[in-house]
Amino acid sequence: MKKSIAIFAIIVSFLTFTACSKEKNANSSNVEKNSKIQVVVSFSPLENLVRYIGGDKVEIKTLIPTGSEPHEFEPKLKDMKLLNESKLFIYNGLGIENWVDKTLGNINKDSLEVVNSSKSIKPIKIAEKGDANHGKYDPHIWLSLKSAIKQSENIKEGLVKVDSSNKKFYEENFKKFKEKAEKLYGTYREKLSECKNKNFVTGHAAFGYLCRDFNLKQSSVEDVFQEGEPTPKKIKGLVDYCKRYNIKTIFYEENVSPKVSNTLAKEVGGKIKKIDTMEVNKKDKDYFDIMESNLEKIYLSLK
Ligand SMILES: [Zn+2]
Repeated sequence: MKKSIAIFAIIVSFLTFTACSKEKNANSSNVEKNSKIQVVVSFSPLENLVRYIGGDKVEIKTLIPTGSEPHEFEPKLKDMKLLNESKLFIYNGLGIENWVDKTLGNINKDSLEVVNSSKSIKPIKIAEKGDANHGKYDPHIWLSLKSAIKQSENIKEGLVKVDSSNKKFYEENFKKFKEKAEKLYGTYREKLSECKNKNFVTGHAAFGYLCRDFNLKQSSVEDVFQEGEPTPKKIKGLVDYCKRYNIKTIFYEENVSPKVSNTLAKEVGGKIKKIDTMEVNKKDKDYFDIMESNLEKIYLSLK
């Protein structure tokens, strides 16, 4: 009995806010001409990219709170409300947001444009079959300059669809993004191709696409989804790997405990160094500053 009352209450509140948001959409068409485009992104790396393409024409809201695992997220009623009131929803894709299909099935999509930012990017397969929590692909596309160009293009297309009057603005921003990304790629392609060593060690396996761009190889303490305490056997394997390739820098990320990385560094007479996967939100940081810093650190560790 109690359960059915609760369900009824949820249905009523859902209908109420749907009705409200519809009314609001009808009334706000005049206001919208002067206000920013409401864009919702799933998690923080996309915020970095959307800020580049959308500039001051957009207001970005991020669904997944800083530091939370994207696949463990479950949208709440307030998130559904936010999506119902927004123009554009951009998600990463490749299975990192396994809640997306279900969520989009439950909202009014008439007024919401949806962009899967991984569209047309060749995915890296990490498992034959995905499970309930993860897909079968590595989702870390934003850490590759080449993939980020494609992501930004998908974002640009979404923005043009919902705000065609600013088409030129978005296209120019995308052009600038592409030029900057290609320039940085060219610089590090040359620098990294001079390094004999191509192997490095990170906290979790986030750099698969970056490695594909530059013909490098990563090994990591934790897997792509930051799961599983490394076994003594795994740690020993990493120690051997570092010794074999003379690796003295062990990278770690903000959202991964540096404990094992520290042990590893001590074991091989090296040091730990922080690298940024953009999975922890830092609003003041620029995409290219982070990428250049990452690439320079990787280059110095391989030199
Ligand atoms: Zn990650």
